[in-house]
Amino acid sequence: MTQLRWGQATDTGQVRSINQDSMHADAPLFVVADGMGGHRGGEVASAVAIETLLGSLAEPSTAALVESVQIANGTVFQRAQDDAELRGMGTTLCAVALVSDEAGERLGLVNVGDSRVYLLRGGALSQLTEDHSLVESLVRQGRITEDEALVHPQRNILTRALGISASVDVDAWEMPAVTGDRYLLCSDGLFNEVEPPVIEATLRKLADPSEAAHELVRLANEGGGRDNITAVVLDVVEGAGAAATATRMTAAAEPDLGSLGAPADTAPQPVVALPPTPAAEAEAAAATGVADVATDVGGLAGGDPPPVASPSSAEPERKRRRVTWRVLVFLVVLVSLVVGVGWLVSSYASGSYFVAFDGDEVVIEQGRPGGFLFWEPSIEQRTGTVRDELRPVAVERVEAESSQGSLGEAEDLVQNLERTSSKPGA
Ligand code: MN
Repeated sequence: MTQLRWGQATDTGQVRSINQDSMHADAPLFVVADGMGGHRGGEVASAVAIETLLGSLAEPSTAALVESVQIANGTVFQRAQDDAELRGMGTTLCAVALVSDEAGERLGLVNVGDSRVYLLRGGALSQLTEDHSLVESLVRQGRITEDEALVHPQRNILTRALGISASVDVDAWEMPAVTGDRYLLCSDGLFNEVEPPVIEATLRKLADPSEAAHELVRLANEGGGRDNITAVVLDVVEGAGAAATATRMTAAAEPDLGSLGAPADTAPQPVVALPPTPAAEAEAAAATGVADVATDVGGLAGGDPPPVASPSSAEPERKRRRVTWRVLVFLVVLVSLVVGVGWLVSSYASGSYFVAFDGDEVVIEQGRPGGFLFWEPSIEQRTGTVRDELRPVAVERVEAESSQGSLGEAEDLVQNLERTSSKPGA
């Protein structure tokens, strides 16, 4: 029998006002989910996803785990459709579960989004999951370096998440249960603030999993705590498995548009983390089409002769070339469309300012009030003025969080509010 020991910690961090991360840590299932979406959307998405996962996991197998993640996706998606306030919400989810069959006990791993599962084995830390984020795709294609990815302005854009469309691709792996292995499940609020060598050293130093989880969260807060932070540490105290590497249970399905000779200045990936609109669904469908034709075009455009056994090689050369050009034109149009829509959405999301309360302090935020899709507003300026210094009418004005066209207009508004009501009764 495999014996597990675990500990967990989560924190809102230093900047955000609510914690939209959710977690579950109790044998046989360990989950971290990082919710996104304006107002309460994010916390609902991550909580509903985990709740659904727990409720629908019928048997201890990796296949059942994948199926439960898909059910959770459907539930979050439906909630977002049914409730206007929750529209556009989504969540990442990574999970480790103890699974078993006649062959014995193993650990099943699943991931959607950019939360991560790490393994500490023999004192060395390795990342088991792949992030489904725009910057990670860019890194994989060699367009940017790992260091550039850390500070990339679009590092919060996901290419996959739960709740965005009716179905979702789930990455899955299986690991042998090896005595002494330590797993870390965490949200990006941890690894964006704490360097991997520090994560590794902390996991090596603190034997107690709960202490390790709390120390990691503390370090992330010390590093800035710009996002919600969650860490679940899972120890295999006793396992029967031999120290083998992960077995991938699903195909790596992302199409590599970069190798198709697309212009270098276009975005490489269709960003599917768009709102569940008919247009987005059509785009997702089109993206699948790209994945299918990509292999075909890659072979032809690269100038390599097609494999002799390929049934298509029997077709006349002229007909095939025509198809290739049509597909290329289609690809260029599709990529431009996706880039264009992405640019429009991103400039809409970040191109305005508004005045709001952060706690009791009046601040100027950049973005749309309540956020737009996956672009959360960020604090641009702190004013030092607090709620108590404002007259009720000014408080109301701030609470309305109305959009101002420019930073200048937002600053004017703050000045007006401060001038008309700087001292109560003045
Ligand atoms: Mn996060």
